[in-house]
Amino acid sequence: METIIGIDLGTTNSAVATLVKGKAELIEIDGEPTMPSCVGIDKAGKLLVGREAVNQLVIEPESTVLSIKRSMGSDNKTSLGGKEFSPEEISSFILKKLKDCAKESLKTDIKKAVITVPAYFNDKQRKATRDAGILAGLEVERIINEPTAASIAYEANKSDDERMLVYDLGGGTFDVSLVVVEDGVVEVKSSHGDTNLGGDDFDQLLADQVADDFMKRHNIDLKADLRSERRLKIAVEKAKCELSDKPFAKIMEEYITDELHLEIELSRHDYEEMIRPHLQKTIDCLHKCLKDASMLPSAIDKVMLVGGSTRTPLVHEMLREAMKIEPRFEINPDLIVAMGAGIQGGIIGGFETNSTLVDITPYTFGASVVGVHDGFEQPDVFAPIIHRNTPVPVSKSEVFYTISDGQEVVHADIYQGEERLVIDNVFVGEFKIEGLSNKAPAQSPIVMNLELDVNGILKVTAVEKSTGLEKSVVMDTKSVENNFDINKAKQNIKTLTKTMEGEDGREDIVDDDENDTVEDAGGKSDLINRAKDLKTRAEKLLDSSIDEDDANEIKDLLDKSKDAIKEKEWEALESLTESLSDMVFYMED
Ligand code: AMP
Repeated sequence: METIIGIDLGTTNSAVATLVKGKAELIEIDGEPTMPSCVGIDKAGKLLVGREAVNQLVIEPESTVLSIKRSMGSDNKTSLGGKEFSPEEISSFILKKLKDCAKESLKTDIKKAVITVPAYFNDKQRKATRDAGILAGLEVERIINEPTAASIAYEANKSDDERMLVYDLGGGTFDVSLVVVEDGVVEVKSSHGDTNLGGDDFDQLLADQVADDFMKRHNIDLKADLRSERRLKIAVEKAKCELSDKPFAKIMEEYITDELHLEIELSRHDYEEMIRPHLQKTIDCLHKCLKDASMLPSAIDKVMLVGGSTRTPLVHEMLREAMKIEPRFEINPDLIVAMGAGIQGGIIGGFETNSTLVDITPYTFGASVVGVHDGFEQPDVFAPIIHRNTPVPVSKSEVFYTISDGQEVVHADIYQGEERLVIDNVFVGEFKIEGLSNKAPAQSPIVMNLELDVNGILKVTAVEKSTGLEKSVVMDTKSVENNFDINKAKQNIKTLTKTMEGEDGREDIVDDDENDTVEDAGGKSDLINRAKDLKTRAEKLLDSSIDEDDANEIKDLLDKSKDAIKEKEWEALESLTESLSDMVFYMED
């Protein structure tokens, strides 16, 4: 058994937990249960993470960054202390601090983690989160959905079967999921959301309103100066939180400009009317989520609130109206996701708990094909293969047909989304099936298989049915999955952190085997993932009471597989994986 920490990498705050004696336990960071997801570099070039970084938010606005989660999966660079950082790199600083705090608190080396993401994060955003973990020196065992983590933590305290709606409104993202708990199995039935909707947007609306008012009165734009803009943002966020408990909140900022103070009173009524259209969007998502699961509001036993923004009274009011039941905070909404991740880490690490997890994909995955749209034959029609809300892991196949006689190449790009034309969906990766039989007539079947794992990572294979041969699938490195160069980022981080006082360089970045990406491993990620899955299953067998000879044989195969990955001996790994697969298959009941 080994310690695998669970991390809630939040837009505003992050938290880390682990399973101790069968219970999720939070690990304190700088004496607090959560840490602001804030990163900065001070004047001396020292890296600051968390509370320390927040403290310099106003005095060093150009060298401090907040809400980086909103940029995950994008190519946006952030400039800090004269250096450029990717969202993955900034997030890795947050994860590294959480990992270090866990190490210190638990007095054990931490190598592995489960990290949560919003259910509605797409492949690119999940991949970016995983890469951030690798850059922080972690093996990311699993990426799990935040509502799923919340349900696991909730379920761990109960024994009843229930149908719950998990409504998660945080600083930067929103999602709502329908979760059914039955006999200790937590099953997410459907999920909807918006990865760009949360408390940050409400702060922005308030800041704009206060800045407009200041402009009218003094003809000065508070947003023109980075320092006064930051002070304004901090002040409105504080006032917003106060409005959850009081009908009015005062903002008083001395000398927000060289000569003027800022003094204004906000009312809850005005504030709530301002954010009502945003909240209406969340209620629309909620109805879609229920519809997807073919359930009426009356079928739901409980509405569970997750995320700091759910403290807003209007959220409760609108949910009460939509669901006809009182929404509830079962566990602290800021901590529940990390606690669930900690429990999931414990389960993977081999500790006993009584819950099992069944997650779903919130998106449909499919291929771009020539199809019939509005009665006309048209290219770039989206052919769904894995439908949204399907439990994962999942493997689904569909048959497609060649268009012309002797066709040797098929282009079948992969997209995720719900729209009928691929242009309206999110591009996942380019697929080219080359070297098909050149004697085959048009309409020859090609079977495409999409396999989605529990981390939301997609693998695609294609088989030419007429010849029975499995053909090569070429993934373009421009694909969504591969456009972030993890090797380059690892080097960058090592160099950058060496120059930052207080950081001794990231010597702990995981360089080897298991976190290799497709390009690291020369296209062998499928094989590596298979070997990794088998390793987990084999280790479970080793923990059970199996025959000593069998245990030794499994250990030998595991050691040799590890060496083969390290030395990149793919043929050897293939044969070792086959042997291990046979053993595991026969020994599992
Ligand atoms: P989370 O991502 O779950 O940490 O949620 C952070 C968001 O919750 C931020 O936008 C906070 O401003 C917001 N928040 C925290 N406390 C409150 C509160 N009492 N009322 C309204 N919003 C809050």
